[in-house]
Amino acid sequence: MYRIHVGIDDTDSPDGMCTTYISCFIIHELKSCGFTTEGYPRLIRLNPFAPHKTRGNGAVAFTVRAESEDEMDDIRDIVIRSVEELAELDNERTNPGVVFYTGEITDSMREFAISAIRRILKIEDARRVAEEVGAEVHGFKRGRGVIGALAAIGCPLEDRTYELLTYRVPENYGKPRQIDPESVRLMDAETGGETFDNVDGDYIAIEPHTPCPILYGIRGESPEVLLRAMEMVRVYEEIERFCIFETNQHTDQHIQDAGSIAEMETFGCYRISGEVLDSPRVIEGGHVFFTLGDDSGKIECGAYEPTKDFRKVILELIPGDRVTVYGGIGAQGTLNIEKIHLERAAELYVEENPLCTCGRRMKSAGRNKGFKCPSCGRRVRNSRKVKRVLERPLREGYYEVPTCARRHLSKQLVRMGISGGCYPSEGFR
Ligand code: ATP
Repeated sequence: MYRIHVGIDDTDSPDGMCTTYISCFIIHELKSCGFTTEGYPRLIRLNPFAPHKTRGNGAVAFTVRAESEDEMDDIRDIVIRSVEELAELDNERTNPGVVFYTGEITDSMREFAISAIRRILKIEDARRVAEEVGAEVHGFKRGRGVIGALAAIGCPLEDRTYELLTYRVPENYGKPRQIDPESVRLMDAETGGETFDNVDGDYIAIEPHTPCPILYGIRGESPEVLLRAMEMVRVYEEIERFCIFETNQHTDQHIQDAGSIAEMETFGCYRISGEVLDSPRVIEGGHVFFTLGDDSGKIECGAYEPTKDFRKVILELIPGDRVTVYGGIGAQGTLNIEKIHLERAAELYVEENPLCTCGRRMKSAGRNKGFKCPSCGRRVRNSRKVKRVLERPLREGYYEVPTCARRHLSKQLVRMGISGGCYPSEGFR
């Protein structure tokens, strides 16, 4: 018996199609020709800052069984023909890659996958690793997709989640999606905890907003709960097919521990501890920034407008707060915050003139002359201003961006077994 791993990436464009759909289509084709696949296909999210991504930088891999070399050839033919037929090859930015691999997954393949999640790679990097391990590489046009295709095959999944994707019939591509929002809310309430990121207030998060073939996607901890959830979601249009993927979504696989600020690089995603050095500020557009520092240097951290109420948390930070920030460094060198742990809250206080024995607050008697009471006239020469500690609206604890702003790879606090901190109660300023 033979096993062939198939990796596919970069088949879609902003105008349509989706690598998950093409993979699901191919798996159906293979099954209808009598082939069996092993386990669930894998949807692997790669570096969120990769410059050529269309949307969520996802690549897909699956494993097919074959009885003979001839059958392996048939599998290759079906895969290549389907990618040729369905990929958005007319789009300049679509450069598909397909990888076939029959051996055991090697350390170098695992390392390559982790690099594709945490760094920016070149097509030659993928071709070199593929050659080393004897993987067969097919690049269409520029063939950039071979990076994702190889990474999807090699990616280790110690932690994993699942996503069930339903697909529309082609006549409906680009039309408004007919999903009953109330049924999604009910499904969320019934399966909450085991499924996640279904809704965000009035926003129905399972529904994409692109012309792609996906009708909706439900994410969760097990295939079983996803099947249960699908039964609960009511839709008023035909579902052509659905598929459950095993994924690295919501596992923080993109996050690496940074020993110090100085060693962090642009387009990398990190967990980094440090001290808040200045008071957070809002800039035009509603984006909020503060400076994080450690012994090695400092970096600007940002909570952008789409993170909505999360900005209220960031605005309540004060200099001296000890925090751990999780996020990725964008092209401008700013660390985009995904979540933050306020480990040690600095004391917030005001300095006031002392109180007089008569109960009134004293006034300054002039430079270096102490204080005098405006009511009874009592004077004190050496008395100093007194510190009054104020209660901070922000408690120590973890805070995360809302569902609508969450990155595919970002691990929710609920998945980390952590309950989030209290949000400041007043409205965003
Ligand atoms: P979708 O999420 O809708 O499938 P996408 O966002 O995955 O679309 P692609 O069309 O797959 O976007 O394009 C991403 C491209 O970037 C692919 O060619 C992929 O091989 C490449 N790529 C992925 N990760 C990296 C990386 N770390 N460094 C360089 N290139 C990468």
